[in-house]
Amino acid sequence: MGTDCLFCRIVAGEIPATIVRETPTTLAFRDIDPKAPVHVLVIPKEHYADVATLAQGDPALAGEVLATAAAVAEDEGLLGDGFRLMFNTGAYGGQEVFHAHAHLLGGVPLGPMLA
Ligand code: C5P
Repeated sequence: MGTDCLFCRIVAGEIPATIVRETPTTLAFRDIDPKAPVHVLVIPKEHYADVATLAQGDPALAGEVLATAAAVAEDEGLLGDGFRLMFNTGAYGGQEVFHAHAHLLGGVPLGPMLA
């Protein structure tokens, strides 16, 4: 995708981000506008527009995104109290950045729905 995609530019090091974990295929960095004490975005380095495209196009890579999210949850001390992992998808899902990303949220009780 390249220069038009914000998260591709983070992967390329062209836009700064606070990276908390990196694997050969995934990247995890803190959300710039956190909605919880822990708010980390986990992305595939390869460009997929959303999680549906990712899961259908490369299920193994989708699994690697989940594995990275779980590792970050452990690093951040979230496994005991729990956390939320969600993928906003498309217009009705409220997606704003069209590079697949998981929101990892935790550190506070989140309730039944994210406001
Ligand atoms: O799921 P959605 O596309 O709405 O989320 C995009 C997220 O990317 C937002 O939570 C926003 O704060 C975050 N973001 C970021 N760093 C940027 C631009 C956006 O963490 N440079």
